[in-house]
Amino acid sequence: MTEVIVVGAGPTGLMLAGELALAGVDVTVLERRTSAGLVGTRARGFHARTIELLDQRGIADRFLAAGQTVQALAFDGTPLPVADLPTRHPYTLALGQSGVEEVLLGWVEELGVPVRRGVEVTGFTQDDGGVDVHVADDAPLRTAYLVGADGGRSVVRRTAGIELVGAEPTRSHLIAEVAVTEEAPPGIRLDEVGIHAVNAVPGAPTVGVVVTEQELRTGAEPSLADLRTALVAAFGTDFGAHDPTWISRFTDAVRQASAYRSGRVLIAGDAAHVHPPTGGQGIGLGVQDAVNLGWKLAQVVRGDSPDALLDTYRAERHPATARVLGNVTVQALLQRGDARTGAVRDTFAELLAFDQPRLALAGLLTGLDIHLDLGDGHPLLGRRVPDLDLVTPRRPDPRLRAPPRRPAAPARARRTRHRHRPLGRPGAPRSRRPA
Ligand SMILES: Cc1cc2nc3c(=O)[nH]c(=O)nc-3n(C[C@H](O)[C@H](O)[C@H](O)COP(=O)(O)OP(=O)(O)OC[C@H]3O[C@@H](n4cnc5c(N)ncnc54)[C@H](O)[C@@H]3O)c2cc1C
Repeated sequence: MTEVIVVGAGPTGLMLAGELALAGVDVTVLERRTSAGLVGTRARGFHARTIELLDQRGIADRFLAAGQTVQALAFDGTPLPVADLPTRHPYTLALGQSGVEEVLLGWVEELGVPVRRGVEVTGFTQDDGGVDVHVADDAPLRTAYLVGADGGRSVVRRTAGIELVGAEPTRSHLIAEVAVTEEAPPGIRLDEVGIHAVNAVPGAPTVGVVVTEQELRTGAEPSLADLRTALVAAFGTDFGAHDPTWISRFTDAVRQASAYRSGRVLIAGDAAHVHPPTGGQGIGLGVQDAVNLGWKLAQVVRGDSPDALLDTYRAERHPATARVLGNVTVQALLQRGDARTGAVRDTFAELLAFDQPRLALAGLLTGLDIHLDLGDGHPLLGRRVPDLDLVTPRRPDPRLRAPPRRPAAPARARRTRHRHRPLGRPGAPRSRRPA
């Protein structure tokens, strides 16, 4: 019997598999895609807290080498400079999701994790001793624990009977990469319906478009005809769109799983929270879920900690993610071109010119202000461990430079010029653990 099966070789599943393997757990990843390639662009990079976590595992440099660091954090179009945030990584890493997955895959392969492709999970049954994972066209696989990192339409979440709770969709958007016969001017346009954008890369055979549909549509896979209709309504022309390499639909629904666990089955990443891509938060939330869950699951699998440790995963990640999703909701709401929404947007922009609101919001969106409710105590209790210089007689101490072997014990010693600076509103309530 495998100790842990992870469903999904997306960013969350791969990160979790790496965490478990580092802790010596026997883990297998099941992925229905037959190859590692990703259709469409999807996420475009990471913010600071996620890069810090990758750094604690000794793999941030791989991502930094593959992408580009930029000052790209924004709140609904208002830039939020982050160069003065208290971190060794005060920037956004621009790297497409396929690049992210490639680096993560290389890492988990080095750690010896089997990633079985072309395996579609259809459901599971569990008992006191383990979980039988049902797969299409093959016999069930037995595992001690199952983690669904299988995206927003998660089969694992649905089989577990876990509900998604939150704001229902009011608007839908099409996102596509498509060839055009007319010039499609790049830029962002807001109107009464919503946001429309064209991203033309010089020399590229296709343009990227995002267009808000005139009426809410959900469910069915969008067609080229749907895209053309939406383009004509928004731009007055469909630019002669043809031969799409990718068309997808997303809505402004923001929903979170009511539970993150059902017995021996857990969910993480998009399987546990769905929301529009506004603000570029999704991939980082998934990686942070994986890092929170990984060492705990390893402890429980090895028998080093009681099973109840797994409940702290939901207790910590649900409220932290809910705060981010609240912000995503506000940003999505502001994506309209009417005068009232414009006035709200302008007011936000004026406030964000001041340091304190900018730092508070940047702390939230980068994940640096994470503050878990661990009870009363020192103001730093529940915050991330400040990444401070360690001063030793032999500086730097080579023993502290060694890469950590276990996720629970990251340690580094490096010189830095930044100083610790608390983020978030002074006296702001912390994320509360649910009753
Ligand atoms: C159009 C679009 C644009 C986006 N833009 C951004 C952005 O700019 N910034 C950002 O941070 N995020 C963005 N996101 C969100 C980001 O892509 C997700 O948050 C991220 O991919 C979540 O990773 P995950 O591993 O949890 O899920 P996924 O990436 O969805 O991975 C799930 C994996 O599970 C596999 N799988 C699913 N079901 C099964 C099954 N039954 N059996 C076996 N395998 C299965 C899938 O094939 C997939 O590989 C965007 C998403 C979309 C759709």
